[in-house]
Amino acid sequence: MAEWELLDYLSPSLSNKDLSKDKALDEFLLIQKYFSNIGSAFLAEHNVVNSVGDDASVISSNHNTQQINSLDTSIEGVHFLSSMSSEDIAYRSCVVALSDLAACGARPKWYSIALTIPEVDEHWLRGFATGLQTFSDEYRIPLIGGDTTKGTLSITVQVMGEVNTGKAILRSNAKAGQLVFVSGVIGKAFLGLNEFKKTFSSNQNTLSYLRPEAKIKLGLELVGIASAAIDISDGLLQDVNLICQSSNLGAEIFLDKIPTPSTEKTLQLINSGDDYELCFTADENKHEQLMKVSKKLDIPITAIGRIMSSKELVLYDSTNTRIELNSGYKHF
Ligand code: ADP
Ligand code: MG
Repeated sequence: MAEWELLDYLSPSLSNKDLSKDKALDEFLLIQKYFSNIGSAFLAEHNVVNSVGDDASVISSNHNTQQINSLDTSIEGVHFLSSMSSEDIAYRSCVVALSDLAACGARPKWYSIALTIPEVDEHWLRGFATGLQTFSDEYRIPLIGGDTTKGTLSITVQVMGEVNTGKAILRSNAKAGQLVFVSGVIGKAFLGLNEFKKTFSSNQNTLSYLRPEAKIKLGLELVGIASAAIDISDGLLQDVNLICQSSNLGAEIFLDKIPTPSTEKTLQLINSGDDYELCFTADENKHEQLMKVSKKLDIPITAIGRIMSSKELVLYDSTNTRIELNSGYKHF
């Protein structure tokens, strides 16, 4: 199919109704070509009866589980750089969305994508589909549907998973006296992003930003151990604060204890976001169990503070002096 033909058909969804029968067929072909087969190897194991191509997907349900559903939009210039490859854009947009399931301790099952693109660039679409395929293979989940429209580049990913009934880890369940933990190292993605902006290269550092990991395995291990959890997307302190607000409590956090890539622990570094590590709370007596999880998964787990009954988030430096806080990334 010629590119101009596709371009013509890729009109905003709302005007799809105006497309003639032939044009609708070609939009159908685009979806067929790039999106119909992604992760299809995993359809059966996730009870998907019908996926890309019909009016809606059909999934069989199960009585002992609850469905977990989350959605995130990634916009060029805000959530990713235009200099990134379409492969990385696809992969990162999906991981960013899936990370919310990790924070809930959910098993990933399916995802859908609302893709808005300024033009039909087949080279770009091929890379995008490859990024999706890699994501599907790594997390073993199928793409079950979506929408494709024309406009400023943006990618909305809806992820769906499940938990055993009553087992989802929520933000709102932290208790005073419990310890606050983080996984991994905070600030790697920030350093990776800064390096990528200068070099545009794909290396171990920049991959921390370009190809983050949704901590699904860790989330699953935390079920029954952690009382509350959140994925660190906007900045560590801001995200700890969200647990505090949801749980109606406060916390004290010790800057020195926060694991960072170097000895330098600036507020900018710890509050930069984009790491998609997990921050969670648990009783002090779960510490040993958590160290076993850390060893098993080869993921550092570090206690960085404690939940307090005062409704305030306080950060202390190495001399136990309070540090004045600016919160992390603000969306608006
Ligand atoms: P409708 O006009 O009913 O909204 P669409 O043409 O938008 O139908 O979509 C047709 C089918 O293709 C649906 O099953 C939809 O889920 C799927 N689909 C559309 N765009 C995408 C995409 N970017 N990724 C995956 N599936 C898609
Ligand atoms: Mg549609």
